Amino acid sequence: MNDYRGRFAPTPSGPLHFGSLVAALGSYLDARQAGGRWDVRIEDIDPPRCPEGASDTILRQLEAFGLHWDGPVRYQQTRGEAYAAALERLAKAGLAYPCSCSRKQWRDYPIYPGWCRNGPCKPEAPLAWRLRSDLGLRPVVWHDRLYGRQCLDPADLGDVVLKRKDALWAYQLAVVVDDADQAISDVVRGFDLLDNTPWQRQLQAALGLPEPRYLHLPLVIGDDGQKLSKQNLARPLPEDERVRPLLHQAIASLDQAPDPALATAPVEDQLAAAIANWTPSRMTAGSTSKAPDWPDA
Ligand code: GLU
Repeated sequence: MNDYRGRFAPTPSGPLHFGSLVAALGSYLDARQAGGRWDVRIEDIDPPRCPEGASDTILRQLEAFGLHWDGPVRYQQTRGEAYAAALERLAKAGLAYPCSCSRKQWRDYPIYPGWCRNGPCKPEAPLAWRLRSDLGLRPVVWHDRLYGRQCLDPADLGDVVLKRKDALWAYQLAVVVDDADQAISDVVRGFDLLDNTPWQRQLQAALGLPEPRYLHLPLVIGDDGQKLSKQNLARPLPEDERVRPLLHQAIASLDQAPDPALATAPVEDQLAAAIANWTPSRMTAGSTSKAPDWPDA
């Protein structure tokens, strides 16, 4: 194994649907073709959004599709101390600050205007923690393997929340701390997360962490034309023999033109061919594909 290290990092807010399968598959194929490692990290930092048993269902579904991971699964629930240490470093460096403002107060502004930067407006109120985006004011630049050079003015970003008023850790901080701690070299995930990347790049810079390579994958949309999600009732993936044609369709959703003769082949055979043929440049930036349907059990 080399120093390629990829990951699939689902939020266990419900079972995997076809869109999450495509994201898991893209990162798996990229890692396996590179001869690298592929980790699974369960992003369970928001317990009220995560029904009991959802993490186990996700892991079973991944196995049913032949997407076997390396090493133990990491659960973000267990990582509070690392997130607290990162926040403390940022606060000591003057890069993070407590904020009492509510969304309602700044609803007429496009981004949070930074009113609490020099001390919370209401120190006794519940406090969130935000990252200062106004220091240095360097453009946030990174390269996406599909979307190319990305450049954002920090003034358009706003001060992202790192810890919420209800004391839960925010996704942006947790993802950056864990990607670095797990030495993730390649972040491969759905296009819907592309616009989160500037905050993650800012945080990596503020914490002095390395920059992974990024590849954002085409999205799968539902009948309503929206990203497939639990909100538009995306169907949970099956775990029986119906996985075979679905895996074939997921490989096709990544524009990898799988051999039609493999459409109902065992998942191991389909994956071996897909790893050998994986060519990310076949994908088109901004393209979407429709989720397939499948018969009831
Ligand atoms: N947990 C995030 C989600 O399920 C994905 C995190 C990531 O890949 O950076 O949407």
